[in-house]
Amino acid sequence: MDYQGLLHDAMTAGRAVSGRGRVADYIPALAGADPAAFGMALVTVDGEFHGVGEVDRPFSVQSVSKVFTLALALAHGGDHVWRGVGREPSGNPFNSLVQLENERGIPRNPFINAGALVVTDRLLGLTGDAAGTVLDFLRAESGNPFLATEPATAASEAEHGHRNAALAHFIASHGNLENEVEAVLEHYYAHCAIEASCRDLARAGLFLAQHGMRAGGGRLLSRSDAKRVNAVMLTCGTYDAAGEFAYRVGLPGKSGVGGGVLAVMPGRGTICAWSPGLDPAGNSVAAIAALDAFTTASGLSVF
Ligand code: GLU
Repeated sequence: MDYQGLLHDAMTAGRAVSGRGRVADYIPALAGADPAAFGMALVTVDGEFHGVGEVDRPFSVQSVSKVFTLALALAHGGDHVWRGVGREPSGNPFNSLVQLENERGIPRNPFINAGALVVTDRLLGLTGDAAGTVLDFLRAESGNPFLATEPATAASEAEHGHRNAALAHFIASHGNLENEVEAVLEHYYAHCAIEASCRDLARAGLFLAQHGMRAGGGRLLSRSDAKRVNAVMLTCGTYDAAGEFAYRVGLPGKSGVGGGVLAVMPGRGTICAWSPGLDPAGNSVAAIAALDAFTTASGLSVF
């Protein structure tokens, strides 16, 4: 497989549409991102690496971190997380309050903000340091010890976080948080504000392509839990456009409002594409176009 050629063509397809996206500005620290930036990295289970564009430029991982919080909560024995969060697509914006009210404080899935707050809470209870656990894992798996939370982004999220705070309080009012709301929010903002590159994230997600085995050997998740995380990524990983993502890309994927998308080719490898311009659902326009072009040309989807 000519991965390098495929990535090159995918980047061309992504760049052709990058002007259609809008950078997230509801978190002011993200508003300054360059909408024309683009990177794409592919790591195989055999250790091959391919990259195009700004493959080593760090960006705010935002909701891509939610894959790791979920996996780490499960890895720390947090199966009880499924009592406090569902696993159905939301069909609503990622920060919707309405659905949470209708469903009595049990968020629809772990990847909308409400669900991620519950998962962060459980990981905090299991480890005592949810954001630190995510960061340590990303550093270990990516082989990049310099990964860190960008404090200005976390502070900006906290300052403008009325909606997330409302979600967290609402969940707490239904008895679905174990820790104090303020602590859960602090850890949530800290793991969302981690900065990492396409190369870092593609490497860190490799356990999802390896049925739960970590990059250096050793198991993070059981085979079944790895299957389940991939399944929830496919059905819920790209906000209320998960159907469109499955249709176009055909891989489990998780996006973030920093413009990153991490996609998994089970048994084969991972791909991370990044470009900050977002569509109205909050997914990167160019990253998704590039992933669409890649799976269409290569035939490497799960279907
Ligand atoms: N930290 C962001 C928020 O809570 C994450 C949003 C996202 O990437 O989906 O709004």
